[in-house]
Amino acid sequence: MQKKMIKRGKRPELMWGLGLSEQLKKQVEMGVGPGFYIRNYPAGAFPWTKELNQNEKPSAAWIPWSVWAEMPEFRREEYRSQDSTQRILIQDINDTPLEMDTVLAEGFLTVVRTPLTRPKVQDAVFRAKEVTSMYSDIYRMTEEILLERELLARKTDQLMFLNKILASATESLDATTILLNAKETLSLVLPVKQLHAGFWTHQLDSEVTDVEIFLNGTMPPEVESMWVEHIMASAADMGSGPVNGFQVVHTDPARRQEYTLTPKSGRLVTLPLTAGQDTFGCLALLCEPDYHLGKDQVETFRSAVNHLGLALRNALMFKEVKLRADRDGLTRIYNRHTFDERLIYEIKRRRRYNHDLSLLMVDLDHFKQVNDTYGHKAGDMVLCKVGEILTETFRGTDLAARYGGEEFVVLLPHTTERDAWALAERVREAIQSCEFHFDGHDFAVTASIGVASVEAGALTKDDDLLIKADKALYEAKHNGRNTVVISKPKVDQISAQ
Ligand code: GH3
Ligand code: MG
Ligand code: MG
Repeated sequence: MQKKMIKRGKRPELMWGLGLSEQLKKQVEMGVGPGFYIRNYPAGAFPWTKELNQNEKPSAAWIPWSVWAEMPEFRREEYRSQDSTQRILIQDINDTPLEMDTVLAEGFLTVVRTPLTRPKVQDAVFRAKEVTSMYSDIYRMTEEILLERELLARKTDQLMFLNKILASATESLDATTILLNAKETLSLVLPVKQLHAGFWTHQLDSEVTDVEIFLNGTMPPEVESMWVEHIMASAADMGSGPVNGFQVVHTDPARRQEYTLTPKSGRLVTLPLTAGQDTFGCLALLCEPDYHLGKDQVETFRSAVNHLGLALRNALMFKEVKLRADRDGLTRIYNRHTFDERLIYEIKRRRRYNHDLSLLMVDLDHFKQVNDTYGHKAGDMVLCKVGEILTETFRGTDLAARYGGEEFVVLLPHTTERDAWALAERVREAIQSCEFHFDGHDFAVTASIGVASVEAGALTKDDDLLIKADKALYEAKHNGRNTVVISKPKVDQISAQ
């Protein structure tokens, strides 16, 4: 007969005895050898099976038939219905042998008859251990199957999600609608509070780009500018190249509930939108903080964004969106194109309603020297600051724009010449008193300003406002700079130095 080996752990393994006589206990101990120890429970103090889960699990439990037969039925039932420990029945040599069917029906692995010789004991323990390890294999396999099933269910969910994204993205050829739908669909996977986007298109025959920014809802100006900054910075990071100008579109203008959410109000995920090798835009998703996606969810999300990118690209091409930037990329104030359009509009309105209309032309003094002395970056910083000063000084109905280079214009409807002069003075002083620090250097700049106005009711030709303001500016330069000059030759020129 082949010798069966009982696999033993390093520490002695536990076995239970339920009501074993001293003699039986000794026989089992002798049979299994030193790798095991028996904890024998006297009749009336048998452990409940739940103790198996709390304490060290026994490799097997030895129970004499006489003890088993005496046990209350409900306790027997309890042992029968648990299968993590194998029970070995001991039957006395003098009793009539039990049918194997009975042994199995009572939930025993096997039966051993006295005397418990070494081979009998070892054989029973060996089988108990084998069955236990088979049970644990089955248990592990069941777990794996359950896991597979869950993965499959997740994959199905993901496919349905992708399908939904595709369907809703291709249902429209309007970028605004696609973005609104996308926000809703992406929310199925990630709690998206806001979805903003930026697209950049290279202008023909030019190195510079225009950026079209889609903001999700209307918001206060300071919040809006934080989002604009974020999208512009992302565009630069993703290789948009130098930005000429940008335009803001509100995808859901009526929505105001969450309009104070800034890029810092949650977890911000900014993803590039690509078609082939070309990155043409980005999505900025503001999500609930502390939300984590599983690896497969991240992949699904990525492919959803890829689909979305293609749909958006189509929409932009379909519209043949020739981006018409209305703002200046450096100073963030309106650009010359916007100013020109507004000027025509305001002149028409003035002809109709006969109100005052004034125009300021602002040119920085010796600006070339600023660049030459402190560098182009310092010059850019000054231009940005001047843009800020202009934004802060004027009302919403006025329009301040960068006219080109270091030249700015301000259109002031319903503003008299005198008021325009006062405002120009305020701007001049604000620029003069601004202290600039760059690269360890402190410096200041000044500006010359030309003012031109048409007064209410005046029958003057008003479409040469620009020329008049430009002439006044020229005069201001001629007069020594850091000066405001009004274009009318008749009126005393008011200057400040
Ligand atoms: P003036 O007082 O007569 O106006 O002298 P100026 O040096 O300001 O005038 P000029 O027209 O000679 O030079 C304008 C300078 O403005 C030259 C150009 O390099 C600089 N400039 C124009 N656009 C930008 C810009 O976007 N950034 C920077 N840093 N400099 C600019
Ligand atoms: Mg200048
Ligand atoms: Mg100039």
